[in-house]
Amino acid sequence: MAESGRLIILSGPSGAGKSTVVRRLLERCDLPLELSVSATTRPARPGEVDGRDYHFVSKERFRQMRESGEFLECKEVFGRDWYGTLHKQVDAGLAAGKWIILEIDVQGALSVMEVRQDTLSFFIRPESQEELANRLRSRGTDDEAAILRRLEVAAEELQALQRYNFEIVNRTVEQSVDEICQKLMQYSHGAKHA
Ligand code: 5GP
Repeated sequence: MAESGRLIILSGPSGAGKSTVVRRLLERCDLPLELSVSATTRPARPGEVDGRDYHFVSKERFRQMRESGEFLECKEVFGRDWYGTLHKQVDAGLAAGKWIILEIDVQGALSVMEVRQDTLSFFIRPESQEELANRLRSRGTDDEAAILRRLEVAAEELQALQRYNFEIVNRTVEQSVDEICQKLMQYSHGAKHA
């Protein structure tokens, strides 16, 4: 099937403010952007909606999906829950000419970059580890052990920074959205003239 869309990866440490940036990007950036909804085994948080934020599935269901090859990539994040990007989400969107956004962890992003050379990738990071710790604590969704684990993983993830096309330091949401949208627009114009 001919693909006319683009595949965009947005990743970086959890708690760096990625989801908020992605939400605003979808609202504000004038491109046919669409967020790929991943499957996960983690329970829904208050306010999250099945099919919109994630496809929430049991561990057993996830294992079946994995075995039947439904994932472009899948990873066990924080050694606890599984997350995976669904082929069908990505392929259908690309075929329809959408610019599909994968908001995924660094390991998942590196896997996708291995199999697809046509991605445009952004590493979104907080200004510092201290800032990240503050965000995770004020979010109030994790206990202290989980927060420490997330900080440890974030420090490891920074090592992968140079594998990405762009680094975005998330000082304010609007500024990050502007930066990402501008890069995507440049890419869109460049692609048309290529
Ligand atoms: P959260 O539990 O806070 O929603 O997400 C935890 C982490 O999992 C985040 O860093 C998020 O980007 C990542 N994540 C979400 N969906 C996927 C996915 O499909 N694949 C991978 N590899 N990571 C994902």
